[in-house]
Amino acid sequence: MLTSVELISRLHELHCSVCGQPHTAYLLQTVSECHAAPLEAVYDQRPRLTRAAAINVHDASMWRYRAMLPLLDDENKVTLGEGFTPILPLRQLAGRYNLRELLLKDEGQNPTGSFKARGLSMAVSKAKELGSTGCIIPTAGNAGVAMAAYCARAGLRAVVVMPRHTPTAFREECYWYGAEVHLVDGLINDCAARVRELNSRNELLDVSTLKEPYRLEGKKTMGYELAEQLDWQLPDVLLYPAGGGTGLIGIWKAFREMQVLGWLPENAKLPRMVAVQAENCQPLADTYFGRQANCAAYVGQPTIANGLAVPRPLGEQMMLRVLRESGGTVVSISDEDMLEGMRELGQLEGLFVAPEGAAVWMATRHLLAAGTISPDEQILLLNTGSGQKYLDNVLGRARG
Ligand SMILES: *Cc1c(COP(=O)(O)O)cnc(C)c1O
Repeated sequence: MLTSVELISRLHELHCSVCGQPHTAYLLQTVSECHAAPLEAVYDQRPRLTRAAAINVHDASMWRYRAMLPLLDDENKVTLGEGFTPILPLRQLAGRYNLRELLLKDEGQNPTGSFKARGLSMAVSKAKELGSTGCIIPTAGNAGVAMAAYCARAGLRAVVVMPRHTPTAFREECYWYGAEVHLVDGLINDCAARVRELNSRNELLDVSTLKEPYRLEGKKTMGYELAEQLDWQLPDVLLYPAGGGTGLIGIWKAFREMQVLGWLPENAKLPRMVAVQAENCQPLADTYFGRQANCAAYVGQPTIANGLAVPRPLGEQMMLRVLRESGGTVVSISDEDMLEGMRELGQLEGLFVAPEGAAVWMATRHLLAAGTISPDEQILLLNTGSGQKYLDNVLGRARG
């Protein structure tokens, strides 16, 4: 049984992701004072926490890893039951491509239809805990919907800024949660500029990707879940659709934390992490393959995978570090190929995935053909969202 002592968060402080300078975790924080870089939550590792003591097996949500999450008081938890999504074997697809083991973690089954629920459940809980009265966000779609839902549940004000071309379902759902919605011509970086104008007096907490430390903590729960659900044997390769990068960075952070905690088998290799981008907006690929020094001047185009249209991700260096440390790579996928992937996953596996999830499957095919992934490896795909909200983008394309 869990004791109350073990349930208390071990959040210790926040560290600048560039230089490690500590910042207090007892005040609302945005980026680091020293480098204006993302802050990372650091936990007290002593005394050593065992898996059995840490995991609340009765909680079928991401909050089962409560002890490694940053909330200080459970009273402030804002939850809709996010997380603990299934890992599904894709047997028909594996058969068609002669693969030993192909798995998909289906984040489309989260509240509000995407993995963004995890990050926003955590960020809104912390916003409430630290006394914020409302939140504001620039979004490609899913993050805005999730923020609107969790703010409604917390009784906080919600302001969502999204590109005008975002499928209607995203905007409409925000309205149903009572959020204030602003539409902007352009991509998420243009929305970020509008957020700065709208929030010039800092009345609202800006929960932009990596501009506050806690969305990452929600997203890292995917890493803990993967390990637990696969009986602590991580896959050989893990593919993730990367826009702002919190998913990729968060999962890697969880793997590192579990290594320190001693939760993974001694000397076990961590998965190679593959970041998947859209050809229409591939800043990380361009930097990774040396076509630019960094993403600072990158100009992207819209894609049917709205979540991947992030031209200048603040977490670029953190993503590159994950690719380097894990021996991974980047793959870019065209919108046409994403549609083909959606058809394959729909027709062979009964999954209506977001174009981002389809991109991950098509990237797998690409890396198999290139010999970067071998058919006898254990391959894990992350489907980050449900296809249902993307109908405007994919209408009439089910038959190719
Ligand atoms: C936001 C989003 C992504 C990209 O996630 P990041 O954490 O920004 O890298 C991928 N897929 C979907 C469905 C999304 O909503």
